[in-house]
Amino acid sequence: VKRRILLLAGGQSGEHEVSLMSARSVLAALPRDQFDVTPVVISPQGRWLPPTETARALETGRAQGGGDLVLHRAASAEGYDAVFPLLHGPMGEDGTVQGLLTLAGIPFVGSGVLGSAVSMDKVMTKQVLASAGIPQVAWRLAVRREWQDRPGEVGARARELGFPLFVKPANLGSSVGITKVSRPEELQAALDLAFNLDRRVILEAMTAHKPRELEVGILGNDAPLASPVGELRFDAEFYDYETKYTEGRATMHIPAPLPPEVAERVRSLALTAFRALDCAGLARVDFFYVEETDQLLLNEVNTMPGFTTTSMYPKLFEAAGLSYSELVTRLVELALERR
Ligand code: ADP
Ligand code: MG
Ligand code: MG
Repeated sequence: VKRRILLLAGGQSGEHEVSLMSARSVLAALPRDQFDVTPVVISPQGRWLPPTETARALETGRAQGGGDLVLHRAASAEGYDAVFPLLHGPMGEDGTVQGLLTLAGIPFVGSGVLGSAVSMDKVMTKQVLASAGIPQVAWRLAVRREWQDRPGEVGARARELGFPLFVKPANLGSSVGITKVSRPEELQAALDLAFNLDRRVILEAMTAHKPRELEVGILGNDAPLASPVGELRFDAEFYDYETKYTEGRATMHIPAPLPPEVAERVRSLALTAFRALDCAGLARVDFFYVEETDQLLLNEVNTMPGFTTTSMYPKLFEAAGLSYSELVTRLVELALERR
């Protein structure tokens, strides 16, 4: 008997289009003899689109117009064996949709409410991982109200970290709202930008040397496996939105050219982080590696990483011998096992 899958895509975050691209790949790859897949696109305004509008959005790569709010129908327990919430960023990857699906009693791919919410928030992630003994850059939290009422205090926190530093909204992805601040004069604009997008902002120290960027995939529930380690290379100040999504700006190296001992450390730290954050199903764990000092720092954990056929996460498992279609099938199995 075929499993009925609801594939959620699009969503309200800045990563709406990225999600639609991933969804097209997943839709094409779920084996039709095993799965009966219904895609539902969520518009940037948060409306769950009916079939015709959904098909149009997947075809054109953008959700148009209003459409009915079909949330109650789409997420009702009857009708689907599992949901694949292929959504990135706030209102999708952050535990909100996961909470709705938990209430509806439908198994779903990926982390639950706790793992999703904590991993989405860069400050909570840092706190949890620090208590698990995972090495990370030095950081400080700032809240919007403090920036409005006592900007001097926030500035002092930045100076403690030193320049250059990174300013980031706590709950976003795809490098949206992130600034590399090289001089104190640039701090105000960076904080204004980040606080426009989030109530909470994280200030992060930069390593002394430009770090290499390593990524590793984790697959599984309570006995997770780590993929080979991949590396991203690009010619830019940092891995910003443009570099991420402009064809040809960045190159992927799988496996990353590393001493085997370093790759093993990456995999082991990533597994520890996955467990500490109570992740499930899948995650892509990203690191900075400072070659000069042999320093490995965990940067972030993405609980629903980019998922087109050419994205890092599927490529990492392909290198481990798991095809894209085997991978998506495995993710649905993991969702059903967790029930
Ligand atoms: P996002 O969740 O939007 O991907 P990241 O925290 O991964 O945000 O930051 C995006 C990119 O910015 C990283 O891939 C890296 O290139 C750069 N970056 C972020 N924080 C630091 C840091 N502390 N030191 C050096 N580079 C950083
Ligand atoms: Mg991220
Ligand atoms: Mg990142």
